[in-house]
Amino acid sequence: MNQPSIRSISICERLPEVRGRIRENARLDKVTWFQVGGPADVLFKPDDEDDLSQFLRETPADIPVFTLGVGSNLLVRDGGYRGVVIRLGRNFTNVELLENHRVRAGAGALDLFVARFAAENCLTGAEFLSGIPGSIGGALRMNAGAYGTELQDILVSAVAFDRDGRRHELSCENMGFSYRHCSIPDDWIFTEATLQLREGDAAEIRGQMEQIAKSREDSQPIKSRTGGSTFANPQGAKAWELIDAVGARGLRVGNAQISEMHCNFLINTGGATAADIEAVGEEARRRVFEKFDRLLRWEIVRIGEHLKDNEKAE
Ligand SMILES: Cc1cc2nc3c(=O)[nH]c(=O)nc-3n(C[C@H](O)[C@H](O)[C@H](O)COP(=O)(O)OP(=O)(O)OC[C@H]3O[C@@H](n4cnc5c(N)ncnc54)[C@H](O)[C@@H]3O)c2cc1C
Repeated sequence: MNQPSIRSISICERLPEVRGRIRENARLDKVTWFQVGGPADVLFKPDDEDDLSQFLRETPADIPVFTLGVGSNLLVRDGGYRGVVIRLGRNFTNVELLENHRVRAGAGALDLFVARFAAENCLTGAEFLSGIPGSIGGALRMNAGAYGTELQDILVSAVAFDRDGRRHELSCENMGFSYRHCSIPDDWIFTEATLQLREGDAAEIRGQMEQIAKSREDSQPIKSRTGGSTFANPQGAKAWELIDAVGARGLRVGNAQISEMHCNFLINTGGATAADIEAVGEEARRRVFEKFDRLLRWEIVRIGEHLKDNEKAE
């Protein structure tokens, strides 16, 4: 059982009263796909947008804040996160149909859920989301995409709160999207997205989603403790091909491994530390740079502190 740390107590004392839930010294390995990493000083689950806004407005600016989706693109380091991790709970998962084939989804809703909702309403355009195991908030931040479609292709607008608790309505153009990236400041929190879809044929939509599920199962280690694509594809090349070409397929550090099935995926084979996972990724990156003079950009978001030497297990 985790005891509150001195650090989390001192942060907690400086946080405002909220309606949502605040937990100290909260484990993050339980809520990320890699299942590694140390705790957050504080985990906050806002009750609704007003609660979130008030929390941001009244939380001292020197306390770092990070928003967690469902942790499918995230490596939390072993020393944990110093500050507040915000997670949007059930009250941010609503998905509804608007006029003109538009769908509004809470940022906490799963991409798969939104794809299924669209399919049930005979709307096409969101099928690609069915293969991405993240939330709408994560999809906005990462401009998530697959099979030639990215979120920016269907996004009409998004709502976000800045670090001072102000609400912003952002058009797709405001988002500054590029490949697996958006230019909205890192500490802004998305709470919803409106998507533009088109009328489609129910059987065709279902068929496409089934094909996506099958192709993922055949080509990605989707049942493993992983974080999705590790590195963004550099201009004109595929990250996996470069990693393969330097002989890093299957490479191990401790219990972390570059997937044999798809070598742009890192895997916790059981009992790995975040340090092992980061090290095996860095080794692949080093080899690619040495051989091809290309520096791969981490697509996986890494947060938190490394363990200090005196905190490491014997
Ligand atoms: C097996 C597997 C397959 C994958 N395949 C794909 C793929 O085909 N295409 C693809 O694009 N990605 C893929 N991914 C990566 C991942 O699913 C996406 O990047 C996804 O969009 C991340 O969403 P998340 O909710 O898990 O975000 P997290 O991993 O929790 O966070 C990722 C980033 O998003 C930010 N974020 C999350 N929610 C919010 C919010 N509400 N407001 C502001 N910022 C937020 C976080 O702060 C962080 O910077 C895959 C991952 C796995 C494990």
